[in-house]
Amino acid sequence: MELTLWTYEGPPHVGAMRIATAMEGVHYVLHAPQGDTYADLLFTMIERRDRRPPVTYTTFQARDLGGDTAEMVKTSVREAYDRFKPQVMLVGESCTAELIQDQPGGLAKSMGLPIPVVSLELPAYSKKENWGASETLYHLVRTLLLPVVPAPNTPRPKRDPNIRPKANIIGPTALGFRCRDDIREVIKLLAEIGVDVNVVAPMGSTPDDLLRIPNADFNICLYPEIALTTCTWLSRSFGQPIIKTVPIGVGATRDFITEIGKVADIDVSQALARSHADTLGNWDAARVSSAAEVGASRLPWYSRSVDSTYLTGKRVFIFGDATHVLAAARMATEELGFTLVGIGTYSREFAREVREVAKKHGIEAVISDDYLAVETKIAEAAPELVLGTQMERHIAKRLGIPCAVISAPIHVQDVPARYSPQMGWEGANVIFDSWIHPLMMGLEEHLIGMFKEDFEFAEGHMSHLHTAPSQESRRDLPSESVATDHAIASTNNSNQAVLTPIAQAIEGITWSADGEAELKKIPFFVRGKIKRNTEKFASDRGITSITVETLYDAKAQIGQ
Ligand code: SF4
Repeated sequence: MELTLWTYEGPPHVGAMRIATAMEGVHYVLHAPQGDTYADLLFTMIERRDRRPPVTYTTFQARDLGGDTAEMVKTSVREAYDRFKPQVMLVGESCTAELIQDQPGGLAKSMGLPIPVVSLELPAYSKKENWGASETLYHLVRTLLLPVVPAPNTPRPKRDPNIRPKANIIGPTALGFRCRDDIREVIKLLAEIGVDVNVVAPMGSTPDDLLRIPNADFNICLYPEIALTTCTWLSRSFGQPIIKTVPIGVGATRDFITEIGKVADIDVSQALARSHADTLGNWDAARVSSAAEVGASRLPWYSRSVDSTYLTGKRVFIFGDATHVLAAARMATEELGFTLVGIGTYSREFAREVREVAKKHGIEAVISDDYLAVETKIAEAAPELVLGTQMERHIAKRLGIPCAVISAPIHVQDVPARYSPQMGWEGANVIFDSWIHPLMMGLEEHLIGMFKEDFEFAEGHMSHLHTAPSQESRRDLPSESVATDHAIASTNNSNQAVLTPIAQAIEGITWSADGEAELKKIPFFVRGKIKRNTEKFASDRGITSITVETLYDAKAQIGQ
């Protein structure tokens, strides 16, 4: 048993639903108790789809358990086939159905339907949503393509150099973070370098499309959590190379183009040169409509421009699925000049890659699906910005730290109407805006540091977010006990900027009045970190009362 309030991922059958819903011509019969139809809402509300997912639930009830639940499976399969006439049927079970062991996949296969039936074995008590999606895609593709796999060691015929190379884009699903717009952006990138798209799967594809997958020269593994198992099988079975770079960020997009150039044996130097062409801030009609503007991102200039100077060294904590976390870590450190103070993922299958990045930055990765563990690590690291999932948005709000969402799980606001990719050149533009937005603007940060007594622009206030300082911030500073400093819960106004990153006082350590006053002079967004470092410094040396001198000794020693 594990006490759980929030889960980062749903059960694996939700992953299977994401594949079925992304496609046309596929139907999913799910052996599940009455009530599991809640999962429909993920698609009709969060993703705002205009039709129900292609799922038939057996919806057994308590009274059915005494009868023949296996017969319910057969009836559902028959009815679903008659009504929807799919080209392929997926059959599987949810958590509760797994316990009664009706073997729905086997039952459906024995019914002699005139279409392929894919039996899904998704262990709901040990695996999760993304794994379920990955397995479903793999079994679906494998079932359809197994009959046409060439004999082992058959060399792949060389591409005719007069024909443009063709790629499959594998991985985008229903309910994926910004998949809809990422696909558009990636197709645009490919067109620019002279690569045609053969099949995009599973998003928007049919079983017939999956049968055409072997016609492409290579596969782009766009979301490894979903696509890597399938791409690996395709590479083994059909000799199709895998493009592994995920083009999130300017550097990664350039690497993506370079990797395709090598694999497809095409000249991508022009596209790369264009991507370096600067899109400076000066408005100029010719430039705006030029290829340079189209084939490049504004992020490099924006992050080099003088207004971004104050971003340098901002302490950032990153958490989410592995793909987006790895991409965000690279962008944050290489393209925006942030300092990485925490990184982690709930995608255990990709823990190794995340650990490697953490090691490079001298920190330890958080590999966990326990949001309380993540919350503790964020509080300890006291970052100035959190990049995470919907859960981290809640955590950051409680701790009073600015936050932007970079990965699923997401709420409805992260399936926006406007074009908002994360990938490619435009993706980098979108990311620049959405990460910078929650931070206090440079001038305000400077002024609040200088004039702390302003009645309106008090500490923690971010006027560009229309937040008023909380009552707590208006207290007289000297009378506020620093030793009991804690995150101020933003109870009344959900957008309320909260003031001090959470910091646990070390037992037996107090702050003298002068030490406390000096601590208060430190800008609020780094104060939590400095407070804790100083307390640790004092505790290590047996100092019980922290004075101004202790504060500065600690600062000199730790170099904070
Ligand atoms: S069967 Fe699984 S998904 Fe359905 S309600 Fe129970 S735990 Fe949730």
